[in-house]
Amino acid sequence: MKQTDPRIRDALIDAASAQNLSYVPYSGFKMGAAVVTDQNNVIQGAIVENVSLGLSMCAERAALFATVAQNAGKPEILALISRPTAGNLTWPCGACLQVALELGGKDLVVVVSDGSREESAKLGELASKLPYKG
Ligand SMILES: [Zn+2]
Repeated sequence: MKQTDPRIRDALIDAASAQNLSYVPYSGFKMGAAVVTDQNNVIQGAIVENVSLGLSMCAERAALFATVAQNAGKPEILALISRPTAGNLTWPCGACLQVALELGGKDLVVVVSDGSREESAKLGELASKLPYKG
């Protein structure tokens, strides 16, 4: 899969739309995600914070979990949009990579963007050190 895959552009647009729905009264760090499946379904997710920090949920996992609940197919692309972290594009956290690996496998393409620039990598390249061997 090349970065020119038109589904990546569409996923980034949908991730940006979801980012606007972020519930982040504590951090103000808006994050939106979109998962594209092998059935070409696009499932959006937005970060949802909670006053009890551990109950917060990442945008990426919200979208990945919804692919299961909606029987939407196997995730092939995970797009994430947020502002940069310390000048670098923000990548999914380890928990989200773990879930993505189990549901999508190591060939899932992760695309991250801050709205003006983007980077991508296959999940297997990012998650090779996680305990689950997909
Ligand atoms: Zn996460």
